[in-house]
Amino acid sequence: MRRLFACIGILVLFSALFCGCAAREEGTLYRIEGEYDPETGTLSATLDLTYRNDTGEELDELAFNLYGNAYREGAKYQPLSAAYHSAYYDKLSYGGMKIASVDGAESWEVGGEDENLLVVRTGHIGRGETVRLAIDFSTTLAKVNHRLGIGETCVNLGNFYPVLCVYDGGWQACNYYNVGDPFYSECASYEVKLTFPKTYTLASSGREEAVSVQGDKKTVTLRLEHARDFAAVLSDSFSVLQATVNGVQISYYYTQDEDAQAHLSLIRESFSYFSEQFGAYPYETLSVAQTDFCFGGMEYPALTMINRNLAEESALYTIVHENAHQWWYAAVGNDQVNHAWMDEGLAEYACVLFFESHDYGYTRSGVVTSARKAIRAYTGIYSQLFGKTDTAMDRPLSAFMSEYEYSNLVYNQGILLFDSLREAIGEKRFMSGLQEYHRKYSGKIASPEALISCFERTGVDVRGHFSSFLEGNAVI
Ligand SMILES: [Zn+2]
Repeated sequence: MRRLFACIGILVLFSALFCGCAAREEGTLYRIEGEYDPETGTLSATLDLTYRNDTGEELDELAFNLYGNAYREGAKYQPLSAAYHSAYYDKLSYGGMKIASVDGAESWEVGGEDENLLVVRTGHIGRGETVRLAIDFSTTLAKVNHRLGIGETCVNLGNFYPVLCVYDGGWQACNYYNVGDPFYSECASYEVKLTFPKTYTLASSGREEAVSVQGDKKTVTLRLEHARDFAAVLSDSFSVLQATVNGVQISYYYTQDEDAQAHLSLIRESFSYFSEQFGAYPYETLSVAQTDFCFGGMEYPALTMINRNLAEESALYTIVHENAHQWWYAAVGNDQVNHAWMDEGLAEYACVLFFESHDYGYTRSGVVTSARKAIRAYTGIYSQLFGKTDTAMDRPLSAFMSEYEYSNLVYNQGILLFDSLREAIGEKRFMSGLQEYHRKYSGKIASPEALISCFERTGVDVRGHFSSFLEGNAVI
């Protein structure tokens, strides 16, 4: 995701203070068939899941994150902090997820810390064995300009279905922290069939396999392989521009954009640049959708959401940042709940690399200097308020006090971590470390140690450099 900091950051600070995979190889296939009804704002669907137990352990249950339940009234972890309640453009609005049935299960229940977890008892699943479940669910959308919601001009379908948790000695449940992107999942395959009013245009993570119209409804069948999530945006006011780069179909969906052609060029340029610098893009399509969103943008595999109300300068940066997430987050995954700095820091630094060689008004020294200034302002304010500032970057989302703290430690300090690393080890080693990281972990989940090791393999000891930033001892 990309935040809009500066003045918003300060507001958030004070508000916070005063408020107190080739999929078949991985063995998981999501077949989702659903219909969105704008009258009720509800997507009713069946998830037919094929799961192969590649954990190396014997299992007897599966667990799914129900991210959509964070939008229900009374949720303990609400998707937006009070400072961002203007995203509810009408008035506070609620949604939620309902599980109607789970076929193929011995039993199931919705639980977790905040009704955010569906636990399905399957009976014994041996190593390498496959199970199949059919989950009937409905997701009701709040009226909100957020990842999942009915926005003012678009319907955002981010994290709308039950998402299998990552298994790491146990199923890792994700609470919906309103700081950061609380999503953590493995790669899988998707076959998605969505029905909606035919007046809508669909932007999605998948490539279209079939489209049919019946009466006033349209049904689109989509496929996506080797992806850790699937998302979509619907709108009856989308215009579309398309281009093909390296055999990948790029589509830019926009609702209001006088410079649409120029923005498509930027999408193409940054796509080519990142493919060349980091490694091959793993999907057949890329959709960039201008939509209703209260932050700068949001990344999903093969789909990015861009706030349609951004000022031009911010729109340029956000488009490149979200594009970079296709390499850092979508291809190479990381635990975004506990190590958000990995994909956010790399997406930010990818912007520095791109803008350095492309003339869009941003420079390496400009971006790095403004990141340093922002961190110094943050440490000054926090030191005055709390006596000292903890600048450790490697911490769970629950340990960030505010959006302001998060954006400084994860984004701005991420820029400084990678820029000073590049300065210290030189251009060649830096780029070869990044390429190794992509080559080795594309389609997988990388730990901080994995990232550090890729730079270590270039023949320099970078451990001290990383730990000074991650533990909060770096001099900024
Ligand atoms: Zn981001």
